[in-house]
Amino acid sequence: EVELKHIEKYFGSFKAADDASFGVEKGQLAGLLGPSGSGKTTLLRMLAGLEQPDKGDIWIAGRRGNKIPARERGIGFVFQNYALFRHMTVRDNLAFGLRVQKVDDHIIKVRTDELLELTGLTAVAKRYPQQLSGGQRQRVAFARALAPNPKVLLLDEPFAAIDAKVRKELRSWLREAIHNLGITSLFVTHDQDEAVEVADKIIIVNKGRIEQAGSPVEIYQSPQTPFVADFIGESV
Ligand code: ATP
Repeated sequence: EVELKHIEKYFGSFKAADDASFGVEKGQLAGLLGPSGSGKTTLLRMLAGLEQPDKGDIWIAGRRGNKIPARERGIGFVFQNYALFRHMTVRDNLAFGLRVQKVDDHIIKVRTDELLELTGLTAVAKRYPQQLSGGQRQRVAFARALAPNPKVLLLDEPFAAIDAKVRKELRSWLREAIHNLGITSLFVTHDQDEAVEVADKIIIVNKGRIEQAGSPVEIYQSPQTPFVADFIGESV
């Protein structure tokens, strides 16, 4: 469903993506795993169209994506800090994108009700983001990204801002929600445990290069580069 082929990206003379290639299949939940500064967010931003690659091709749902404007890519994005609208209630946060697209009010109401229910936020629909817990905020960001019915969902460090106690619960919740929806998803993390618990496929990034991609079992049982062996070895 999503494929990056031989992507290169420079910031000045710094190479943030170096011949990076990987794919995520339809309905798959994949995790980009790597140390801080390895280029994970940059890969995600290029997929979303928020950043342009200097070389290589991006394919999204059978279309070559480099030139497709961000809003036409059918991609939902959950930002690391959630970027919720502070002055809007939960319901209005979910409805905002649909209002901008001039979707009919009745349809917006039906869709936001559906999303509130999916994310268990119906009871707090009238609250503002600062009146919510971290876990609830994350679910608002998730629901808002889903509102326009994207084909692909990208999540940048979705659990980073959440307290350790709630994090575990939220991981399994998110995994199940994404699988139930059947939406192709890719999330970024630097936490091996998180990648193993949540992802169907792990893509290991180091210095802008893809070191290895495979199921959690494949990665753990047969690391293919010294970097991968070292990186996952740290958690054992
Ligand atoms: P983290 O886990 O810390 O977010 P990351 O793996 O997501 O790291 P990126 O955010 O993709 O890494 O950044 C990769 C490298 O590219 C970093 O060294 C960063 O400083 C650099 N970089 C990212 N965006 C820019 C930019 N707009 N201009 C210049 N350098 C950038």
